[in-house]
Amino acid sequence: MRSQKEHVLRVVEERDIHVVQLWFTDVLGTPKSFNIAPSELEGALREGMTFDGSSIDGFSRVQESDVLARPDPITFQVFPWKDGELSAARIFCDILNLDGTPFEGCPRNVLRRTLDRARQKGFTFHAAPELEYFYFASADLDGGLRLLDTGSYFELTGTDTAGDLRNRTVVALEQMGVPVEYSQHEDAPSQHEIDLRHADALTMADTVMTARLVVKQIAEQHGVHATFMPKPLEGVQGSGMHTHFSLFEGESNAFSEPGDPQGLSRIAKGFIAGLLHHAPSITAITNQWVNSYKRLVAGYEAPVHVSWARNNRSALVRVPLPKRGKPESTRVEYRAPDPACNPYLAFAVVLAAGLDGIESGYELPPEAAANVYALSPEELAAEGIRALPGSLAEAVDLMEGSELVAETLGEHVFEWFIRNKRAEWAVYKTHVSRFELERYLARL
Ligand code: GLU
Ligand code: MG
Repeated sequence: MRSQKEHVLRVVEERDIHVVQLWFTDVLGTPKSFNIAPSELEGALREGMTFDGSSIDGFSRVQESDVLARPDPITFQVFPWKDGELSAARIFCDILNLDGTPFEGCPRNVLRRTLDRARQKGFTFHAAPELEYFYFASADLDGGLRLLDTGSYFELTGTDTAGDLRNRTVVALEQMGVPVEYSQHEDAPSQHEIDLRHADALTMADTVMTARLVVKQIAEQHGVHATFMPKPLEGVQGSGMHTHFSLFEGESNAFSEPGDPQGLSRIAKGFIAGLLHHAPSITAITNQWVNSYKRLVAGYEAPVHVSWARNNRSALVRVPLPKRGKPESTRVEYRAPDPACNPYLAFAVVLAAGLDGIESGYELPPEAAANVYALSPEELAAEGIRALPGSLAEAVDLMEGSELVAETLGEHVFEWFIRNKRAEWAVYKTHVSRFELERYLARL
């Protein structure tokens, strides 16, 4: 049988690829890449390519700046479009130190390490995100943001530009081997959603990086701007990245227990309990921007409180009903993450939280029955329902106190992330906004 590497080299030759992009991700989830000629690929697959890591946020300390990008052959994909006459392909890389050990600043390594821990317990971890995003006529802020459509939830908007862009995106993703479960118009005008079919979490984190790029690239090819910013418009919903998670033991879904009234195994209950326990301290990772916290407010179908329920869109963890006769589709939907997170780190902390719940045997609190938004502070307190952090500053403080997050991210990423986010908050804190000027300038 041909190895994966041989397969990649053969496709590069047969499809006459001119450029191979080596992709990786910085700590904040920004896509990074450098290009190599196809003739370099064989060597790169064998030995990796050295590059200067200090040029990338969160990667290297200056004194040890060279790192190695080693392409992961299983991730190789040809782009379905051409760049002029040139055809290109991309391949994700793991970042290593020059001695071949995993580089601590690489988010893909953070997730790999956490997945290995799950594997030692016999689990594989699956994720299926729902990516919400907006299309705007441009990213130019003079004159305000111009929407592309005025559609709403599941609206069939027919032949409008945004719907067409979304369809083209889905086709391009399918051509790149990314199965899309479905796509739809979302609740807010010009807001759309693409739901990806579940895969193991490492593949899925790579896929989220790819999908974000393809959404933006196809929009750009048509003179439009797509954004995954969590809350670009006031007064309408923001964009979330609800993600459905499940653990498998071999071929069987470890969350499913058909005899249980809720269809959930002990493992699933432990996982949810762990997720709820650690939710406030992993929020800085799943919601990493100042703007993320403008989305996590009541009334817009984004979670605010730490609760779970089977069918309640105000809950942080939702357990969707599995399809009839398909217990293998049992999963938990975590509704906090937004699509501007670093998916490698987000999936890693969610998994770590869930595993801790299973190992420590946390008790699953009772299901939140009512619409959690509607509960008064007294009712919330009586039910012991905590809130998610209300700002980036609060989230970072909670994260800093979490051993689980420190262990999962490793010291390098943990410390760099906290430093970077504190700096972001410091800039935001001194910013005088339009809100303040409009409210106070004339009045005071
Ligand atoms: N856009 C909402 C959010 O920010 C979610 C809407 C939905 O339920 O899909 O999470
Ligand atoms: Mg949605």
